[in-house]
Amino acid sequence: MLNSLRSRDMAYHFHSQTNPRRQEADGPLMISRGEGCYVLDELGNRYLEGMGGLWCASLGFENDRLAELAAAQMKKLATYHTFNHRSNDPCADVVEQIAELSPIPGSRVFLVNSGSEANDTMVKLAWYYNIARGKPSKRKIISRKGAFHGSTVMGAALGGLPHMHESFNLPSLNVVYAGKPHFYKNALPDETEEAYCNRLIDDLETLIASEGADTIAAMIAEPIMGAGGVVSPPADYFPRVREVLTRNDILLLSDEVVCGFGRSGNWFGCETFGFVPDMMSIAKGLSSGYMPIAAAVIGDHVYQAIADEADRIGVFGHGFTYSGHPVTAAVAAEVLRIYREMDIPARARELGGHLFGKLEATIADHPMVGEIRGAGFLAGIELVADRSTRTPFDPALKVGALVERRCRAHSVMIRNMGDVISVCPPFVMTKSQVGELVDGIAAALDDAS
Ligand code: PLP
Repeated sequence: MLNSLRSRDMAYHFHSQTNPRRQEADGPLMISRGEGCYVLDELGNRYLEGMGGLWCASLGFENDRLAELAAAQMKKLATYHTFNHRSNDPCADVVEQIAELSPIPGSRVFLVNSGSEANDTMVKLAWYYNIARGKPSKRKIISRKGAFHGSTVMGAALGGLPHMHESFNLPSLNVVYAGKPHFYKNALPDETEEAYCNRLIDDLETLIASEGADTIAAMIAEPIMGAGGVVSPPADYFPRVREVLTRNDILLLSDEVVCGFGRSGNWFGCETFGFVPDMMSIAKGLSSGYMPIAAAVIGDHVYQAIADEADRIGVFGHGFTYSGHPVTAAVAAEVLRIYREMDIPARARELGGHLFGKLEATIADHPMVGEIRGAGFLAGIELVADRSTRTPFDPALKVGALVERRCRAHSVMIRNMGDVISVCPPFVMTKSQVGELVDGIAAALDDAS
């Protein structure tokens, strides 16, 4: 039976982000159960999940309160839509809570199902907003090299990861790219962090001037780049980006899909990095990954400009069958109540202090470790061939993938993005489990060196 499920998956499942021929050869890792911060495969092997799945299971993998609530909501109202003025009780509950937590003044919430859809929604809103204001030529979106904003056509176009473009010969869709703000990798020899930040801001100003501010609708940015390698910007970067964009009448869209809901030590990443966006996208942690729900959160100034002109420019023709689905909304609303009870930002700071302390004490001197970085309870470990010169490994060696496999052999799940190891654990982890996680990574690094 176990083998037959595995072989059925091999026969019929086209996996996400996977080489099909490798998948046929290696077969799937069938995850059958979740227990607290552990997941178990079909053979009963337990893995400590250091990534919350895909940066999302903030409450771990079993929560009776959420399971019971989902069942009760399914009995009460299993499905309904929110088109043409319809809504439902859990939907009203979750949008109110999101607006209460949001740092954007007068937030309105547009519900969708995934982070990619939330980013698509923000882009369409940015276009619609400019059409409403009589500035239809403002269409371009500034993104950044190394960014990840999802897998829909627009999400992939916004992203700055080459493999998301090249495999599809993706059209540019009016996206232009600023630099990746990574001091460790991109600073010039002897450049201070302040000088590096000045250079990034000068480059942004030059990009805007050469494209023409009157052709640019918005800039999208993750406060900490996730899939691009857990990259935190220089201290002053975002306040200065905000100033440049405001001066040029360009909206700032914060992609909070990874950073939202406590991850960086505040409710939202924009708070950690000192800026207020015009809109933000949220997903993943919004439901702790228990249900597919996401949202675009919209500042009052954007909302009012649109609402004032809707009779003239037409209905906002956008939305999904499952936008505001009652079961997903009920689960997300309860997750937010649990986060508030736990004071999740404080928990992230406490566990993060422990995580970074343990990483520093255990692997900072390892010959393969170039940089340990991140914020709150989110860390990235850059693996290098030579620490003194910061020389990367030959990509053909696939060192990060090897470390990921060795972590699994030590019963720990992490994620490698090239040669960066990322760690984004559930907030219900104990300090001793954080220690177990770091010890697993250290053992994997020793195996790989
Ligand atoms: N934005 C960021 C920063 C992400 O990390 C992701 C997914 O990992 C997305 C957007 C896309 O989210 P989804 O996979 O839910 O569409």
